[in-house]
Amino acid sequence: MRPIKEAMQPIKRECTVCRNLYDLHYSQDVASQRFCERKCYMELRKRHKGMRDYWILTVLRERGKLTAMQISNLLSGVKVKSSNRTVGNVLRLWASRGMVTCSRPSFKKPYTYQYISESLPGELVIQYAKT
Ligand SMILES: [Zn+2]
Repeated sequence: MRPIKEAMQPIKRECTVCRNLYDLHYSQDVASQRFCERKCYMELRKRHKGMRDYWILTVLRERGKLTAMQISNLLSGVKVKSSNRTVGNVLRLWASRGMVTCSRPSFKKPYTYQYISESLPGELVIQYAKT
């Protein structure tokens, strides 16, 4: 185990919207942890379904290959809950834009999605979603 003092040091993180590096402090709430400041968070909030798409893409990017069901389960602890079916619909749209791949080993198996875009989830939502 690391000493508590070291563990409490802020972590450098890249903002998902503007790519600014910022210090992640442990006192911040979970929703703000991937944003440098409130302005970038509000930019996503302004978009139609922006936070929903943002969280689905973020989970996929951070966890690797996942099915819609797995993403739906991972998001059940977050404010933006999405059903298995909604996650699948959202990701098929992002796959048609070339940001995500979508494949399944056989017709009986569920689709597995993978994040392949060079852009960050926040950048994608701001690029594509309407305000
Ligand atoms: Zn930012």
